[in-house]
Amino acid sequence: MTATAAKATTAPAAETTFVPGYAPGVPFLKADAHGQPYIEGHRCGACGAAYTLPRLACPRCFSRDALVPFRSSGRGHVHTYTVVHRSYPGIKVPFVSAIVDLDDGLVLKGNLTGVPIDPTQIPFGLPIRVVFDEVPGQKDAQGLPYLTYFFAPEKDAAA
Ligand SMILES: [Zn+2]
Repeated sequence: MTATAAKATTAPAAETTFVPGYAPGVPFLKADAHGQPYIEGHRCGACGAAYTLPRLACPRCFSRDALVPFRSSGRGHVHTYTVVHRSYPGIKVPFVSAIVDLDDGLVLKGNLTGVPIDPTQIPFGLPIRVVFDEVPGQKDAQGLPYLTYFFAPEKDAAA
């Protein structure tokens, strides 16, 4: 009988593949096995708080190692927004920068598309869905365009 080398009891995490032909624009933008993009959240198993990025401990209840990744539904409501009229060179203005509350507890900041650039026409609480599109004119070191997320009114978002 010979001693056997200890073998790993868990398989290494599968290599994450992203949407074919794109680079992720933010670290919490992931893609499933079918190449469909989604927002990944991390939920605290102790108190239920949700965050976009993994953390060593939950900022709300201080539990350690309790955060578990989940796939966001991408549905929520506009919490607040502003119309941006001046930005960096090359950024087309005006645009609507919004903070949304997703139904699964995540809070995201991003651009609200598909609405008139008119504060009288964008109600707070507007139902939205996260949609994905290319960042215009930006590529990574391999020449891949970045994919990022936007918000669209729920009535306009494709299924
Ligand atoms: Zn917690």
